[in-house]
Amino acid sequence: MRMDDISINRRNFRNRRRTSKYFIFTLITVLFTCMLVSLSFFIPSTTFVRKPVSIPTAENQNFLNQVTDCFLPTAAVYGYHLRITAAFRSIAEQTQIYNSGRTEDGHIVSEAPPGHSLHNYGYAVDVADRIKAYNINWTRLVKIAMYCSLESGGVGDLPHFEYRGGLTTDQFAAGMRPPPLTLPCAIMANRAATSTPLTLKDLNACAAPKF
Ligand SMILES: [Zn+2]
Repeated sequence: MRMDDISINRRNFRNRRRTSKYFIFTLITVLFTCMLVSLSFFIPSTTFVRKPVSIPTAENQNFLNQVTDCFLPTAAVYGYHLRITAAFRSIAEQTQIYNSGRTEDGHIVSEAPPGHSLHNYGYAVDVADRIKAYNINWTRLVKIAMYCSLESGGVGDLPHFEYRGGLTTDQFAAGMRPPPLTLPCAIMANRAATSTPLTLKDLNACAAPKF
């Protein structure tokens, strides 16, 4: 065999090796892609779908505790024995009261369409005095509410108090919730735990608003 033939054979051999390497690489790539595609069929599609927002069915317990352990007892010290006239309201109930005075007989009860009231998410209460009804010094009551980290419904809706913690109603509707509330004073937590009424002395020690 001549030297030329040997070198040609070597070159062919190298070329064949290169081709087979390329073939194996392509095969691995194709197999890997097939594996990924077939795997994606086994992964439940819910993994990629946003979880549906659960619709609340009751008042938020943490918010309610703030009302019963801070707002109501502090107001009671100043002579307002409040009762909760409305708390959680379902979308169906909100629809009913929103329709009142609009598509149904009666006077207008609520300005909030269904899903647009914090009552629908369990983060609102309406209050009235057991004896004086709505004959309340609202400025004082709003100050007490603020002390308890609650927000007033404002001039148009004085008996309404809520907690949104900076969130918009749309954010509530999208499933977002504000951080949990805490009582402003340890004495208050202790009074609530032992079902003992708050006193003016307690409020002074708790740096509550003074009137
Ligand atoms: Zn309300």
